[in-house]
Amino acid sequence: MQRTVQFVIKVSKHCNLRCRYCYEYPNLSNTETMSLEQLERIYAHIASWYTGLGRPVTVEFVWHGGEPLLIDPDFYWQTFAAQKTIFGENRRLSEMPFKQI
Ligand code: SF4
Repeated sequence: MQRTVQFVIKVSKHCNLRCRYCYEYPNLSNTETMSLEQLERIYAHIASWYTGLGRPVTVEFVWHGGEPLLIDPDFYWQTFAAQKTIFGENRRLSEMPFKQI
């Protein structure tokens, strides 16, 4: 059976809501994001680790925050292009299917 590994990327704490229970409340107006370079390093480590295991694994990325959709879509197009480079054109590395959530 193929395993699935999910990575939750908290790409920014910025959020346009103010839920009273939010544990990020003091940081919700911080518009800083992870850099594209940081994300590329994450992808490269993931690709290296799971390729080395030699067993098929499904890798999923969950974009989280804050509100990740407040970030310019171009940021995501750029990081998706980096994923394509690192995980392959069809977004597979060996038997590693690739998904965005
Ligand atoms: S990050 Fe989530 S919990 Fe916090 S204010 Fe935004 S929507 Fe609410």
